[in-house]
Amino acid sequence: MEKENEFLIPVSGLALGVHDFKFDIKDGFFAERDYSEVRQGEVTVNLEVEREETMMTLNFQLEGKVLVTCDRCADEFFIPIQSEQVFYIKFGADEAEESDDVAVVPAEEHAYDVSSLIYEYIILAIPMHRVHPDGECNPKVLEMLSHDEEPSEKEGEMDPRWAALKDVKIEDN
Ligand SMILES: [Zn+2]
Repeated sequence: MEKENEFLIPVSGLALGVHDFKFDIKDGFFAERDYSEVRQGEVTVNLEVEREETMMTLNFQLEGKVLVTCDRCADEFFIPIQSEQVFYIKFGADEAEESDDVAVVPAEEHAYDVSSLIYEYIILAIPMHRVHPDGECNPKVLEMLSHDEEPSEKEGEMDPRWAALKDVKIEDN
């Protein structure tokens, strides 16, 4: 690794108590992950780390926006996201305790990389339904969609191509 990883938080060297970290996520964060479904975004991450004798509690607060494709008109737009997540780092060697929100690391571990957590939390914060606010969809696309819907309303004049398909049964596997 040539580049210094800004997402490493200290573990063994961190004093007991509460410590604040802040990360400004920009487009480059997504570009570095070639499997990322998000390519652009701006997210501010405030991380409060509480260091105790046997564990650390990480409170993440995320707020920002990411570029998504509208489910209705297929134009891209920035959708606001906001999220709070808690993650625990326990000191020890018992990996059986590991889970989605718990990592187990040796107490003498130098640092912990939170970049994957932040990426995961951003993706989780994106709403399932990604639609422009009312009135902001691409009007040309909406008009085309409304024309597409018209023929199905006229029962007697079914497009012959669709008529041929009408009796085809689609079987589930
Ligand atoms: Zn739209």
